Amino acid sequence: MNSSINPLPNGKHPTNRELQLMRLGYAEYQPRLMSIKKNNPERYAAVMDGRKRFYQHGWACPTCGNSERYTRNLACAYCAGQRIPLCFKIIEGVGSVYTPLSEERSAEYQARRQELMYQRDLRSRIRKLGEIRCGWWVFRDGDFLGQNLAGVAVAISLHEPDSFTVRNLRKQDPAFNTIWEHVHDALRLNPEAIYEPE
Ligand SMILES: [Zn+2]
Repeated sequence: MNSSINPLPNGKHPTNRELQLMRLGYAEYQPRLMSIKKNNPERYAAVMDGRKRFYQHGWACPTCGNSERYTRNLACAYCAGQRIPLCFKIIEGVGSVYTPLSEERSAEYQARRQELMYQRDLRSRIRKLGEIRCGWWVFRDGDFLGQNLAGVAVAISLHEPDSFTVRNLRKQDPAFNTIWEHVHDALRLNPEAIYEPE
């Protein structure tokens, strides 16, 4: 292969699209994919599975101590979402605090447990919120139901929204932007959290 055709040299973060092209076997992305495979097998597995995030054994975020990272840019999945302060408060409220002295496996267990508790708490807050309407948009059970810019009925999940769709709707549909911000505010979530950091 011609080595001058390398759109993704080491050190440059792949885009989500490039991760997809890697996974599909596009030749120009294979040198980088092989490098990831060699240097970080867990990240490689995540790329091949199409997972946005993965647990990195032996790595702990220097800020929050968790081990889950974004596949794309290796940022801490917790800090990036700015939800860790909330998480830690919940954990402290029930008397279980992350212990930095624990070994890797235990740290991973703590991270999973924390994530589970966070999700449980979030579900209960979503339930309490009930149904919210703004214009032709409805928020119900964790989904924003309405129409996209092409007039097609869509359900946008609060948990795993398509960032491209959300970004465009927020820019071009004031009703969507309003309900998006209101729901995030009511649930104490960061409305920008779906935008992964560089
Ligand atoms: Zn972190």
